[in-house]
Amino acid sequence: MMYYSTNGKAPDATLAKAVVNGLAEDRGLYMPRSIKKLPQAFFEQIQDLTFQELSCTVADAFFGEDIPADALHKMVCDTLSFDCPVVRVEDGIYALELFHGPTLAFKDVGARFMARMLGHFAGGREINVLVATSGDTGSAVANGFLGVEGVRVFVLYPKGKVSPIQECQFTTLGGNITALEIDGCFDDCQALVKNAFMDEALRAALPLTSANSINVARFLPQAFYYFNAYARLREQGFGGQPVICVPSGNFGNLCAALFGAEMGLPVRRFIAANNANRVFFDFLQNGVYTPRPSLQTLANAMDVGDPSNFARIWELYGRSVDAIRARIGGCTVDDATIAATIRECLASTHYLLDPHGACGYRALKDGLQEGETGIFCETAHPAKFKEKVEAITGAEVLVPERLAAFMRGQKQSVALGKDYQGFRNYLTDTLL
Ligand SMILES: *Cc1c(COP(=O)(O)O)cnc(C)c1O
Repeated sequence: MMYYSTNGKAPDATLAKAVVNGLAEDRGLYMPRSIKKLPQAFFEQIQDLTFQELSCTVADAFFGEDIPADALHKMVCDTLSFDCPVVRVEDGIYALELFHGPTLAFKDVGARFMARMLGHFAGGREINVLVATSGDTGSAVANGFLGVEGVRVFVLYPKGKVSPIQECQFTTLGGNITALEIDGCFDDCQALVKNAFMDEALRAALPLTSANSINVARFLPQAFYYFNAYARLREQGFGGQPVICVPSGNFGNLCAALFGAEMGLPVRRFIAANNANRVFFDFLQNGVYTPRPSLQTLANAMDVGDPSNFARIWELYGRSVDAIRARIGGCTVDDATIAATIRECLASTHYLLDPHGACGYRALKDGLQEGETGIFCETAHPAKFKEKVEAITGAEVLVPERLAAFMRGQKQSVALGKDYQGFRNYLTDTLL
């Protein structure tokens, strides 16, 4: 499979190049030249397959031309060492729980898969992974790569803008993982990473790669759990097409679901749930995409003012606003509504949402029509936002042991400014 750049000014890349480079030379995002449709028979019998089995079929369609089947299937099974169950919350509304991995958020799936695929393609060379995080990416990538030989990971995070629980998950690991505390916001962190990739002199000296959701090895595998959600609903006797609602920031997770639908996954329509960072919602209203500085909200992993995967959605639907509107609806949920939703949902269903899942649940509940069944992604465990959720509900949130273990660790990070030169000097001093 060849991958092209959404900016159209870079040559096509092989999967290996797209994975190692992350971003194309023209700063575009890689897109597969074609998307394979899975046969009808697969969907008719999907309920008989386990999560790992059906994910191997999906992985074959994406990556089968480029990676031998046994190596690919091992990557899939190693990645999916935990379940992504579909849990009934109330009539017609299900939570796709994506927080059962090591760092209790959905990014574990993409990060674990990417670490394994990068290991496959790096073939013994020393490689440096740069990742900007607004909270959960850093922990998922750091944990996904921890101990992977020949790979060093630098996690850039905005000082004071991630929760203490998120912070400890990437600052306490040590080994091949270094946390860089940037005096700026998430967009500054993302800009530093993007600048490093555009710096040809730096890249000539240091092999660099990205692990943000722009990397095809990170975002595509996120399709696995949408197929599983459909399979598990069918197993419970559901025969229709669900509405899928995804709490979105950089739109990698939604984008994976859209790719799933292009492969034939039956989905009635999609809802993109935004917090107060409503660039995509506004785009759906007025047809113009206008990036803005990000705002801090309760759902901080979605505080993104210029979602990188918008370019992929734009491409996927032939650069047509109407085609996008025909498949994806939008919603914006402010902090007061997030808090009210967590309280209401707990009181009426006994299901405890995290602030991101609350955006999804709210958007789905408001958007679902008579007779429709919907799934929203519960993208993180509420204990990751313990203080916020407890302040909202007034009740204690129990912390799973794997999260408590991080909190006992010793924080280690390097403080840096948001200027590119300082970041560049740090990298060359450390690595050369
Ligand atoms: C990253 C993240 C999101 C947003 O996902 P995108 O793929 O960036 O749209 C939502 N919720 C949680 C908990 C996250 O960590």
